[in-house]
Parts: sequence; structure tokens; C-alpha cells
Amino acid sequence: MEIWDTVIVGAGPAGLAAGIYAGRSKLSTLILDQMMPGGQLLITELIENYPGFSEGITGFELSEKLRVHAEKFGAKFENSQPVVDVALDGDIFVVKTDSKEIRGKTVIWAAGSVARKLNVPGEAEFVGRGVSYCAVCDGAFFKDKVVAVVGGGDSALEEALYLTKFAKKVYLIHRRDAFRAVKIIQERVKNCEKIEPLLNRVVESINGTQFVESLTLKNVKTGELEDLPVDGVFIFIGNEPNSAPVRFLVDTDERGFIITDENMATKTKGLFAAGDVRKKPLKQVVTAVSDGAIAAMSATKYLEEREG
Ligand code: NAP
Repeated sequence: MEIWDTVIVGAGPAGLAAGIYAGRSKLSTLILDQMMPGGQLLITELIENYPGFSEGITGFELSEKLRVHAEKFGAKFENSQPVVDVALDGDIFVVKTDSKEIRGKTVIWAAGSVARKLNVPGEAEFVGRGVSYCAVCDGAFFKDKVVAVVGGGDSALEEALYLTKFAKKVYLIHRRDAFRAVKIIQERVKNCEKIEPLLNRVVESINGTQFVESLTLKNVKTGELEDLPVDGVFIFIGNEPNSAPVRFLVDTDERGFIITDENMATKTKGLFAAGDVRKKPLKQVVTAVSDGAIAAMSATKYLEEREG
């Protein structure tokens, strides 16, 4: 059975950058993902803060450039079922999906994160029928409709602005009285007539029959309940890390984000973590690719030391 020098799990910006650096180090490199390469870039319309692209670059275009770049240096890609477990067989990692096992001398875990759920009545029931976690995927279904966005971070505010391309009105519901998004985005939101912030409110339930028809909101200051008629609700309240398959091999914080040292090394020799799955202060494409580069160089060094 083939043993790869490195198996990279996750083809987002961290995994793809790791693929470029591992390939240039002449490591035999396999990049696994359930979807086409790009990760969360694929659900991002425009990236405005990736250095060197002053006009912005679409998430799709940047994914393609990173994929081509990794392939150019020899990384192989495999569309896989979800990785359910990573275990050690001696000093070889066994990366397991439901249907196969892949072996690697090192693993770079760059599996990213998934959208956090509100966990309110109606949320699960109306997914795909008015509840969405991806404006780029579903925004166009809401042409001339009224939608709500929940959250106060970069994602919520950026996606609210994006949704104004389609929706006639966007309510921006946030649980506090101040947004945490970067100031330039806050200013754009403030200047956008189609967006109406509803602050100090939380969603109590998402209501409808076949499709979403309204939200029940609670004012956290007064306790008052109100009914807000909407055709859809986009939820951007942060992310949960995809770290469960490696949880026995790594340390994590209380939310499951993987703790590494500055070399992206985890507590298990040969296992590195990179990108949004890692505990770190700034989650951006630029920090994801940086993590990936460091992880691949650390994997290279580890293999050189191990194999002389
Ligand atoms: P985030 O920064 O963690 O913000 C999550 C927001 O959702 C916060 O405003 C939070 O409220 C709110 N929230 C969390 N749990 C909630 C709940 N149960 N009910 C209601 N509201 C809840 O998440 P994000 O916006 O997805 O961003 C994730 C990371 O990616 C961040 O580091 C962000 O900077 C980065 N990002 C960057 C860009 C960019 O640079 N262009 C774009 C997107 C994302 P509180 O404020 O009260 O905590």
C-alpha cells in the first residue's frame, strides 16, 4: 500500500498552500477533500484583503489559482468521503474514511470549520427552505425579497452587504449593541440604505409552514418578543472546528480548536495543523496560507530528521 510523505486533509487555502510547499520540497503529497478545492473560499464572493489583489479577487478564482499552483509542484488531489478518524500504526498515520484507509508519514490537518448553528426551533427544519449559511450559494433565490442576517462579525456584515444585490431589504440582527466586524465594513453597512440593523436582539424561533415566513426575536434588554416577517434568514455566528477525527492526537481549547506551536506541530510527532481549525487570533485567508506553508516546511524537516 502506498505511503505518502504527507497527507493533507482539507483543500482550503491552508491545505492548498501546504500542498505547494510540500510539493516544492519534493514530498509525495496527497490532498484530500470532500468537495472541489477551495474550502470556504468557494462560498466567499470577493476577497478584498488578500495582499497583492487591490481590486479584490473572487473566492473561486483564488481557489483555482491555488489548486493549479499546488498541482504544478506535484500535489495529487483526491475527492474523498469525510475523514472519520486518524490513527497511528507504528509511526505511520492511517487516515480513515468510511470506505478506505490512506497512509502517510506525516499528516497536515487543515480541515477547517463548519458554520455554528443557532440551535433554535425551526432552524434545522427550514434549512434549504429559507434558512441558509451561505449567501453566495443561496442569495440569488431572494431577489426582491426580505431577508435577515444573524451575527455581528466580518462574515455577517460582509454577507449582509452581498445580499443587498438581490434582496430589497436586509435586517441585520445582532445580540449586542456593537458589531465586532472590521470598521471599514461597519461603515459600508451604515451607509447602505437596504440594511436595517436590529441590535440587542436574539432569534427565539424561525417560523413558517413550507418556507420561512417570520422570525420571533427577543430584545435582550427589555425581554420583549417581536415577530419579524422575512422570506429567509442567513446565519453567520462563527464556526466550529473540524477537529473530531484527530481529537485523541492533539490538544484543543474548550471549543475544539487545535493547539499547535509556532511550527504548526501538535502534540503528536508528524501531525501538523493549519488554518481555521487551529486556535489562533486572526482567521483570514492570508493567515491560513501562512499556516499551510509553515506546516509543510515543518513536515519536511520532520521527515529529513526521521529519515536522515
Ligand atoms: P466571529 O468573528 O466569531 O463572529 C461571530 C458573531 O456571531 C459575533 O458577532 C457573535 O456575537 C455572534 N454570535 C456568536 N454566537 C451567537 C449566537 N449563539 N447567537 C447570536 N449571535 C451569536 O465569526 P465570523 O464573522 O464568521 O468570522 C470568523 C473569522 O473569520 C473571524 O476571525 C473573522 O475576522 C474572519 N473573517 C474575515 C473576513 C475578512 O477579513 N474579510 C471575512 C469573514 C470572516 P458577539 O459579537 O456578541 O460575540
